[in-house]
Amino acid sequence: MKRIAELPQYVAQLSDVQRALFERIFRLDVAQGELIVPSSMESWVESSFGSVGAVRRQHVVKLTNLITVEGTLFNPLRAERPTDFDPQDDVRAAIEATRGGPFCHAEELTPEDVFGRVRGKHCVTASNVAKYDGFHGLVIFDEHDPLAITNERVHDYVDTALRWARRAHNVDASAKYFFLVWNCLWKGGSSIVHGHMQLALGKGLHYARVEHWRRQALLYRLAHGANYFEDLYRVHDALGLAGRIGGTRVLASLTPVKEKELLLISPTRWIDDEDFEDAIGEVLNAYVHRLGVQSFNLALFQRPIDTAEEDWEGFPAMIRIVDRGEPQVRTTDVGCMELYGSAVVSSDPYDVIDAMGLS
Ligand SMILES: [Zn+2]
Repeated sequence: MKRIAELPQYVAQLSDVQRALFERIFRLDVAQGELIVPSSMESWVESSFGSVGAVRRQHVVKLTNLITVEGTLFNPLRAERPTDFDPQDDVRAAIEATRGGPFCHAEELTPEDVFGRVRGKHCVTASNVAKYDGFHGLVIFDEHDPLAITNERVHDYVDTALRWARRAHNVDASAKYFFLVWNCLWKGGSSIVHGHMQLALGKGLHYARVEHWRRQALLYRLAHGANYFEDLYRVHDALGLAGRIGGTRVLASLTPVKEKELLLISPTRWIDDEDFEDAIGEVLNAYVHRLGVQSFNLALFQRPIDTAEEDWEGFPAMIRIVDRGEPQVRTTDVGCMELYGSAVVSSDPYDVIDAMGLS
């Protein structure tokens, strides 16, 4: 089993071509921290971290993506801590206690868009009552329990979301930047427990972080004559952090925004690729049922659905998924480091890719 702590060795073992590509995209640093454990703390340290030696001298793996300037600090010691894979009772209780709310009666108790509702096999759309953009809707699942995830349902939710986007675009052709968000449970920023996605179709420019990626990928192409996302996959693959589901490429990110981040790259430029939609369901299934994640954020984005002034050449449809931590834990996972510095992460990307069971 590979470990992120050993990354410097894995990089050293790459071929010259692979290592040059790694160094083009990433900067890798290892920091060493040392401390003194008083004898009164020794038994606690041993039971929490395995040994006093492991705590006395620690290594932090620091990765910076030089293209997008996103960075993550991995403390392998934190990754050694045992994790609990069982959904906690109070989370299940909270899900059950909210049954029968407005989203369980979506047709009567949620607003509809000016172009009406779009109905899927397992969901229906609504208009968001407090909008963050001109077109801001919801896909409300028929199933109340947001963790009752199956491949077929996820496929249907995404299909319905895309039909919503096309309907909105028909109302106003200048709205063309589609962004799909799935905030699962309160740790993921969701105010409502009942399973739902949020949909936005923006105008003018894509949402800021998507536009940032587009610009950096464009600069990469101009500088190196290569597709940034292809090269990003190649580097992760060479280090054993990537795999495929059909034509969809799955990466356990070297610079995750927070715990267990995965990036899915569509084989085409669009989301509505059957293969890609299947892969989303499969990954989410493994995420929830194998990794034990309960609260997550999933973002799905692609190039504008109509012509645009900016250059979107080589920009694939993509998904980013991140674990937001255990719902019953009171502290938030995002602090000052994540907002203004670099992300601090304890999960090992090698565990994440391993749980996906990819070839
Ligand atoms: Zn409900």
